[in-house]
Amino acid sequence: MDTKAFKRSLHHSDNYHRKGFGHGEEVMGVMNTEYQSHLIQEIRQNNYRLERGDVTILLAEAFGFCWGVERAVAMAYETRQHFPGDRLWITNEIIHNPSVNQRLREMEVNFIDVVNGEKDFSGVAKGDVVILPAFGASVEEMQLLNDRGCTIVDTTCPWVSKVWNSVEKHKKKEHTSIIHGKYNHEETIATSSFAGTYLIVLNMAEAQKVCDYILHGGDRQEFLDYFANAHSVGFDPDEDLVRLGVANQTTMLKSETEMIGKLFEKTLLQKYGPTELNNHFMSFNTICDATQERQDAMFDLVKEDLSLMVVIGGFNSSNTTHLQEIAVEHGIPSVHIDSGDRIGPGNRVHHKPLGKDLELLEPWLPAGKITVGVTSGASTPDKAVEDVMKKILAIKEAEPVLEVAG
Ligand code: SF4
Repeated sequence: MDTKAFKRSLHHSDNYHRKGFGHGEEVMGVMNTEYQSHLIQEIRQNNYRLERGDVTILLAEAFGFCWGVERAVAMAYETRQHFPGDRLWITNEIIHNPSVNQRLREMEVNFIDVVNGEKDFSGVAKGDVVILPAFGASVEEMQLLNDRGCTIVDTTCPWVSKVWNSVEKHKKKEHTSIIHGKYNHEETIATSSFAGTYLIVLNMAEAQKVCDYILHGGDRQEFLDYFANAHSVGFDPDEDLVRLGVANQTTMLKSETEMIGKLFEKTLLQKYGPTELNNHFMSFNTICDATQERQDAMFDLVKEDLSLMVVIGGFNSSNTTHLQEIAVEHGIPSVHIDSGDRIGPGNRVHHKPLGKDLELLEPWLPAGKITVGVTSGASTPDKAVEDVMKKILAIKEAEPVLEVAG
């Protein structure tokens, strides 16, 4: 399919919307009431610091809802207002946050079911209104909805569209797109649907594996088996690793994306020499500002003398998981939770250690004076962060005062 031509024609269709519907101010008022927090405003004004009794909370200087998420949620709210009597769908979670998705369900926005790992669009009928989430949708999904005569409200973040444009450029120049991301993440699924030939690498180790193959060859089948699910149909490592462009899932760890880009550039330089490099390698900076700012703020926060760290965000949120990784790499005891409901009763927390399932930690907060670092992913409302902080303060307030003998 000529994905670029399809997208162009879709953008000109009367049934396609990628801007709001003029209810912005009203919706912002509702969203502020539902998601904003007075406590957090106060902490921001106090240099991102809160001191109560034995607890000092240090809040990251960039955290929580990013511009793209706020825009997507606002557009979903506006869509409900604009089409009050129509059946509304969303192709996936609008963002990776349970409370926001729950709020949409309450507004009678239907989520497309996933049956045996496949999305089931059978309930979607002509005339229904379908919202595409902040991290986009695959070109096949857009085509299906367009063919079915649905009204499409596209909330895809412009930063994600920027990545799609880069893979279109790779395709035009017959370069294979190396996508730094998670092959089963919705954003990467969407991005790869716009790419021509592509290969998805998760991290530096996988990028190194590909570069070793470029320089020294290897077992073709073993390579294909290793990257099963992570490459385009018919991908051949002997033919498709000659001209490369690097793209990324916007929420990956910025430093890692940069290192991966440099590694491929160095490898192709080594293989083809400096005069040929431009014919073999393309790269565009497509890390989104919000991801970068949140990661930079986290690097500042972990320099503080923290007793522990709390990272708040959906368990399937990639940018939240990367914030957690930074804490773990710096040796700070850290819990990743998706809401304050994971805390208590008493001094306990159900949290998700990196790469593991939920675990119970009890007792959680140490006795005496503590300094707690707090941050949240780009899809987490301030209200969720406030809730967590209040629970931490309540646990410490309830702590028995130790009698000193003597
Ligand atoms: S994290 Fe970045 S790319 Fe993702 S929605 Fe937010 S601004 Fe857009």
